[in-house]
Amino acid sequence: MSSTPINCSFCGRAKEDVDVLIAGVTGHICGNCIEQADNILQEERKDTPEKADFQLKLPKEIKAHLDEYVIGQEEAKKTISVGVYNHFKRIVYPIAEDAVEIDKSNVILLGETGTGKTLIARTIARMLDVPFCIADATVLTEAGYVGEDVESVLSRLLQSADFDVERTERGIVFIDEIDKIARKSDNPSITRDVSGEGVQQALLKLLEGAEVSVPPQGGRKHPEQKLITINTKNILFVCGGAFSGIEKIIERRIKRSSIGYQQEIAHIDDESYLQYAAHADLKSFGLIPELIGRFPVLTHLKPLDASALRRILTEPKNALCKQYIQLFALDGIELKFEASGLDYLVEKAVEYKLGARGLRSIMEAVLNEAMYEMPGGEKKKLIINRKFAESRFSGDKNSGLRVA
Ligand code: ADP
Repeated sequence: MSSTPINCSFCGRAKEDVDVLIAGVTGHICGNCIEQADNILQEERKDTPEKADFQLKLPKEIKAHLDEYVIGQEEAKKTISVGVYNHFKRIVYPIAEDAVEIDKSNVILLGETGTGKTLIARTIARMLDVPFCIADATVLTEAGYVGEDVESVLSRLLQSADFDVERTERGIVFIDEIDKIARKSDNPSITRDVSGEGVQQALLKLLEGAEVSVPPQGGRKHPEQKLITINTKNILFVCGGAFSGIEKIIERRIKRSSIGYQQEIAHIDDESYLQYAAHADLKSFGLIPELIGRFPVLTHLKPLDASALRRILTEPKNALCKQYIQLFALDGIELKFEASGLDYLVEKAVEYKLGARGLRSIMEAVLNEAMYEMPGGEKKKLIINRKFAESRFSGDKNSGLRVA
């Protein structure tokens, strides 16, 4: 009795001609066809998810997420949430050619170092799952000078997107210390200003939403590398700077414009002038108008006081205390912080004017010996109170204290 020949139901090849033939309920499929089907699937997935996987978050959702990581800075968090929302709206809803073109919402954050500027930008990028990179404006120079070309900023973003150009083109770039490339005086100088205005001009190219040729490895060490074209139209730029001294500029402007209302403004203390910062003040500080014009969103961060530092220790989702408790728990050790211990850490951060960034160094100094001695030992519990912290910190005053 001859049996019916078995063939692949997709390509028709006979069982003898293929390596595997898998039986289904009513037919068969061969190894070749499985492979082909898999390729089709991969292609399909590559095409669709880019648009579908990008979740637009509402400003309130962005702010709520920031609240989990960034203490205080209410105004900055609100302003940047709206800026980011508007920016990414342009990406999610492609605008018809004849429609009103919505400008980008690049952001400038004013505030002392260590107040959370980078943290805000990084937290947003992580939430939106977009590539993120940090660049330091002080190392950027005009092409041809010693230093990094501005394109290196995009190289870094490309690297953080694993060289996926499409993802890179909707990433977030944080440029720190933008105030350091300010022109030294308000008057345009006739001499070339390599570190200042020239870099500002060069940065404009990135901010303008142009196609920029980027060396994927960055730098000038690999002249042979093939350049990759990145369109910066949908890249969000967030700049941060301390702008030290800008309070005086703001104060002068406000006083000038409110002659006759002296009493009303007399109550503004020096520090809080920052909250009245406007684009005009950035110009007086030495940023060129073309650059300022590319940063429609401007907001400020407040210096962190002792109560904010205290909250930073325990409240954020990845708060320092939680991190150390976890580190010790991995060795089976229960670490507990008492209020008096936390107060001490904050007092030291304030005393040494180290801000939030210093909390980590102080914590390290206090816990270092325990982290050396305790793993593998008998003692399975450690309580950090003022007495303990004080004894460890004063014993280790200089050796452990380095600002991260
Ligand atoms: P900068 O303003 O100089 O960019 P960062 O954002 O880099 O400061 O802050 C340095 C570190 O200090 C952060 O990694 C974070 O641990 C902590 N920090 C600063 N500000 C805050 C804040 N408002 N809330 C929580 N942590 C903060």
